[in-house]
Amino acid sequence: MAGRFSGRRILVTGGAGFLGSHLCERLLEEGAEVLCVDNYFTGRRNNIAHLLGNPLFEAMRHDVTFPLFVEVDGIFNFACPASPVHYQSDPVATTKVSVHGAINMLGLAKRLKCPILQASTSEVYGDPTMHPQPEHYWGHVNPIGPRACYDEGKRCAETLFFDYYRQHDLAIKVMRIFNTYGPRMHPNDGRVVSNFIVQALKNEPITIYGDGEQSRSFCYVDDLIEGALRLMASSAEVTGPINIGNPNEFTIKQLAEAVIRLVGSKSELIRMPLPQDDPKQRRPDITQARQVLKWEPTIQLDEGLLKTIKYFDELLNN
Ligand code: NAD
Ligand code: UDP
Ligand code: UDP
Repeated sequence: MAGRFSGRRILVTGGAGFLGSHLCERLLEEGAEVLCVDNYFTGRRNNIAHLLGNPLFEAMRHDVTFPLFVEVDGIFNFACPASPVHYQSDPVATTKVSVHGAINMLGLAKRLKCPILQASTSEVYGDPTMHPQPEHYWGHVNPIGPRACYDEGKRCAETLFFDYYRQHDLAIKVMRIFNTYGPRMHPNDGRVVSNFIVQALKNEPITIYGDGEQSRSFCYVDDLIEGALRLMASSAEVTGPINIGNPNEFTIKQLAEAVIRLVGSKSELIRMPLPQDDPKQRRPDITQARQVLKWEPTIQLDEGLLKTIKYFDELLNN
């Protein structure tokens, strides 16, 4: 499906981050001109260094909590720290980027009359009481806990997207992303896949929070980006919200064992306290993505982990 975005000028906010940098790369491959906007809070210039020589790529330092006046044909709004460690380090900034960032990007899309896709999250379901999680589940979120800056910020952003859709007839796409991993995650990102791989490669203890029986479903980055592109390319009546993630579920202990096996590591497992409000289970119901976007993940855990291990191995040895 090469050329889906041929000749279109696309804005990617958070474009120097983990997912954003892969998205910029894929959009260029699809024939788009890409404007990457990032304030480098958790993103790195290294993630996009290989794109800077491309005349169709432009990087701009900007904080999306402030208005942005540019001319584009479509917007992917990915700016927001995603790791609990980072989004909780400055919780007010997290709510600001989620809410003010969404308002500014929606205002921009409204002026330009262009489509806008929101990187929402499975965290809108909180610590879910329904399993797996379908899009019609309203969630179970603590509004005043340490995760609320992110969960409620992203929920409010979804509200804004649907109000701009109803009130201003904006072409919106809301994508609920479930735990995604792969090359270009920051080694100190703090999320489970990067932590375990870095620890295993260094033969250091693997830090299991709680009893390790909590579950997540891990999607490889290439699959996720294909889902984002399909959603943006879908017809105007497809607004979402739509779950994009891998429905194969693992406990955190199983993930640790897989990483140790694939790295061939001597690391031991150690227990650390479970963070407050840590969701006990998470698995996307992707019926809608399968039906509406004809999308499903193609890369399973071992294959994706091996690619990610290779990335971190090279990073740590340079
Ligand atoms: P990331 O932290 O690597 O990327 C976020 C990017 O946004 C970084 O480059 C950061 O510098 C930038 N940013 C933060 N605040 C900004 C601001 N005020 N102005 C401009 N740029 C800003 O995280 P990621 O995993 O790439 O996540 C990207 C998006 O996807 C986020 O919106 C996140 O909530 C969403 N998401 C990711 C996952 C996942 O598993 N990776 C899951 C659910 C949702
Ligand atoms: N905005 C922006 N770029 C634009 C247009 C708007 O950053 O090209 C911002 C603008 O500063 C405003 C927000 O988007 O704060 C919402 O815009 P909207 O037109 O929806 O609302 P209003 O300007 O009426 O408050
Ligand atoms: N986790 C862990 N050890 C780590 C990092 C995370 O056991 O070093 C656990 C964490 O408590 C959670 C799961 O792994 O249950 C996923 O955490 P992550 O921060 O990657 O993302 P979340 O899905 O919680 O947003």
